[in-house]
Amino acid sequence: MLPPHRAARLAGLGTTIFTEMTALAARTGAINLGQGFPDSDGPGEVIEAGVAALRGGENQYAPLPGVPALREAVREHQLRHYGLNPEDLLITFGATEAIAAALLGLCDPGDGVLVLEPYYDSYSACISFAGAERLTVTLRPPDFALEAEALRAAIERGGGRVRVLLLNSPHNPTGRVLDRSELELIAAACVEHDLICISDEVYEHLVYEGEHIPPATLPGMAERTLTISSVGKSFSFTGWKIGWCSGPAELVAATRTVKQYLTFAGGTPLQHAAAAALRLNPVHLHTLRDNLRARRDELCAGLSAAGLSPITPAGTYFVNADVGGDAAEFCRTLPERCGVVAIPTGAFYDDQAAASTLVRFAFCKRAEVIAEASRRLASLA
Ligand code: PMP
Ligand code: GLN
Repeated sequence: MLPPHRAARLAGLGTTIFTEMTALAARTGAINLGQGFPDSDGPGEVIEAGVAALRGGENQYAPLPGVPALREAVREHQLRHYGLNPEDLLITFGATEAIAAALLGLCDPGDGVLVLEPYYDSYSACISFAGAERLTVTLRPPDFALEAEALRAAIERGGGRVRVLLLNSPHNPTGRVLDRSELELIAAACVEHDLICISDEVYEHLVYEGEHIPPATLPGMAERTLTISSVGKSFSFTGWKIGWCSGPAELVAATRTVKQYLTFAGGTPLQHAAAAALRLNPVHLHTLRDNLRARRDELCAGLSAAGLSPITPAGTYFVNADVGGDAAEFCRTLPERCGVVAIPTGAFYDDQAAASTLVRFAFCKRAEVIAEASRRLASLA
């Protein structure tokens, strides 16, 4: 029924690697260290705030820009943590909707979008929905550093059509936290080529070494950066899909214009709960971070004991390990060999050769689950 070109485009989008791997874990009963989601709830008082909003009649459409309490809490958050005072902000259905609406609102067909490779899967899909062209800047193991030459070459490939630089730090899937010198390279390129920066900061509070520096805090960047985050990773509520973006009025307005026709406005009670989350004592953020750092170290030790070579990440809840052979084959057979699911890091690259022996493991799991996964992986050694 569908014309062949349409069927081919849909086949190209396929099923996300996360859906595929979670289905594989369910089918085989393996421990799922593939798709990244915590196996414990976030703070109880935040859940109670959601219940109170549900019971308190907060069940109709939210205002398009978001409920005032959450808008105010996001504004306070940006100011308290980074000294940023954005012109405008918008509540979205997770960071995912902010990314999609921003790309659709800011790009014309044929525009170039620079993206760090490996990249989160929705980036490439949304760039293609916008009719834009993806221009990758490859981060290579083991250090995944951003190189000036790779950035310059990608801009050159764009031949004057580059409009947006879509950034993600702390970075999924590598766990890199870009340092100030790398961000300065990015800022210099954005200013020189008059680029808009869309900055995905969903892992902003999951940093174990170094610090998260929002690109909007660099000179010349506040006026060209749309900063995106969400409640999912910072508070362990990935299923709530409450996110936000903030920045210059024109960039937020472009995103809002598209957002009205994607989902309009939703999740009203959870928006109230997210406001409560952002207003918690920051000690909650530190406790989560310190717990995750311990899980990271346990899983890295387990991977090493299994004869694999983990690259300790400075942020996010993902660790990549060199498995010394074909990573895709390794992941296909891992559930039957030892009852663990993980993702070949190559799934996040266009350049398949760049990380053909790397596997991404999520460590946002309870200590006993990490211990059991490590015990199972040890049988590989
Ligand atoms: N960006 C990155 C880099 C991610 O890893 C994720 C994880 N789901 C998202 C965006 C999506 O965030 P949300 O769940 O808030 O839509
Ligand atoms: N961000 C999660 C990960 O990288 C997955 C989110 C999703 O399934 N789309 O594992």
